[in-house]
Amino acid sequence: MPTWSPRTRVVHAGRPDPVPGAGVNVPVELSSTYHAGAPVSYARSGNPTWSALEDAVGGLEGGRALTYASGLAAVAAVLSLVPTGGVVVAPRHAYNGTTGLLAAEERAGRLRVRTVDVEEAPAVEERLTGAHLLVLETATNPMLERPDLPRLVRAAHEAGALVMCDSTLSTPLLRRPLEEGADVVVHSATKYLSGHSDVLLGVTVTAETDAGRALHERLLTHRTLHGAIPGPMEAWLALRGLRTLALRVEVAGRTAAWIAGRLTEHPAVRRVRYPGEGALLAIEVVGGAAGAERVCAATSLWVHSTSLGGVESQIERRRRHPLEPPTVPEELLRLSVGIEDAEDLWADLESALDQAAPASR
Ligand SMILES: *Cc1c(COP(=O)(O)O)cnc(C)c1O
Repeated sequence: MPTWSPRTRVVHAGRPDPVPGAGVNVPVELSSTYHAGAPVSYARSGNPTWSALEDAVGGLEGGRALTYASGLAAVAAVLSLVPTGGVVVAPRHAYNGTTGLLAAEERAGRLRVRTVDVEEAPAVEERLTGAHLLVLETATNPMLERPDLPRLVRAAHEAGALVMCDSTLSTPLLRRPLEEGADVVVHSATKYLSGHSDVLLGVTVTAETDAGRALHERLLTHRTLHGAIPGPMEAWLALRGLRTLALRVEVAGRTAAWIAGRLTEHPAVRRVRYPGEGALLAIEVVGGAAGAERVCAATSLWVHSTSLGGVESQIERRRRHPLEPPTVPEELLRLSVGIEDAEDLWADLESALDQAAPASR
């Protein structure tokens, strides 16, 4: 389907061949073993429902995908590409599960980690000497810092390091990091790709080059031996969610841009972080941590919960998590904009901000 736009491909990718009488959707394949005589004989190494999802996401990213039990399992699989004692350079504000995993690997003596401010390209370049892997996110979560991807990819490759780019916040509709030179793209498909807050799932995608195919084989072997495989039902749900990805990303992105503009004018908001695309925002509110918690408690439409990328809008003070780095402001709220009516969302948020910070009016 190379001539179709991504908006069309999310609807049709990964469907079975059009055989008369057969279903238009791939079935949920529930079998742990297969009749002998074919390459896949046991379901830890492959499953037709995963394959449909992998074909779809791989096609959208322009590479070859593998699916995992969660986004963090996909990140862990990529870290397995680094030799014992190897050096990983990572954003200091990377997703907190990723920083937590890196810290645990470092404490165990498996990896050495150098954290960087990803917006300071020259400083990142300096730290790449002797590195094996550069971890990037298209925008960091929740600080929404944006790395200069092509520049850092070039520097990492010159230093002999692989580049993993977590594109969870961007989806293949907004960014395709393989085209910008990244070696492995990672998704927490739990978020936008699935889109309904009802499934955990991860994906890696590697390029259709000799080097990319070699990485794919290493990752496949790792998945089979470590067993961080998704359930077939989860893969099916993710593929079902993917069908509406373009609609969801377009509506949520439009609403997020509009709400970001309104927020800059609200007296209870000190700073708005909005990377200019996607549906994630972060705001710093007056009144410190307590003021921020009051905003979360005062919303009725925005769901006060962790995670992002669902159809429902979510709000959360990130520092309520002990793993969140102290350089993330106490009063920072992460807003994941969903697909509800924009006016309804703004009315609920504005009233929560008014109530929580009345003195600023
Ligand atoms: C949620 C998230 C992850 C981890 O994914 P899980 O599916 O929760 O394991 C990784 N990276 C980013 C950017 C995320 O938002």
